Amino acid sequence: MVKERINEIKQSLPEDVKLVAVSKYHPASMIQEAYDGGQRIFGESHVQEMVQKYEALPKDIEWHFIGHLQTNKVKYIAPFVSLIHAVDSEHLLREIDKQAKRCQRIIPVLLEVHVAKEETKYGWRPDELLRFMESGAWQQYENVSIRGLMCMATNTDDECLIASEFERAHQLFQTVNDALPNNKWTECSWGMSDDYPIAVQHGSTMVRIGSLIFGERLQVLK
Ligand SMILES: *Cc1c(COP(=O)(O)O)cnc(C)c1O
Repeated sequence: MVKERINEIKQSLPEDVKLVAVSKYHPASMIQEAYDGGQRIFGESHVQEMVQKYEALPKDIEWHFIGHLQTNKVKYIAPFVSLIHAVDSEHLLREIDKQAKRCQRIIPVLLEVHVAKEETKYGWRPDELLRFMESGAWQQYENVSIRGLMCMATNTDDECLIASEFERAHQLFQTVNDALPNNKWTECSWGMSDDYPIAVQHGSTMVRIGSLIFGERLQVLK
């Protein structure tokens, strides 16, 4: 079942859009099933859970950390994480850089931009993010490689609002990229189970899909 759903989603995606299978709260056995079907990129949003799954599962899995990351937990995932999606402050970026240095790694990251209506969502304000990139301050963090942006749209049925939020993130991505002399950004991480077709129409290069692949998560754990 998991394999079939992954294949259906993959067929609906343009060839250059990557699928991050969001496996949070689902057991390692389901990840193994997806792995056996060829899926290699998995997304998790809790540090301890990701570490346990990393230890239990094949080593060629690319583990993406997609949730809000606390600075004091960066050290646990720094040795193996493939991409950290939701870097929402310079403080967190600095800590990732520090832990990456200790592991002698360069950790790829995305900056999370806040485009949704909800107050509660994390992320940089677009103007703050632009100023941070223009200032060049990011260049001092030599053990992180910023690859692009991540965002979450408002949780709503209003498809026009969702589209406008993804579009805003995409325009910011392009504005920054036009100004970067080299090391151009390549990744736009947006789109989840309910809104990924809209995300793909607005620049997404990476969709993060959980419930559509693995079914509903246990509410008690949410
Ligand atoms: C859980 C989660 C997803 C996946 O959500 P679904 O609606 O199950 O596809 C995507 N991105 C983030 C940041 C998440 O926390």
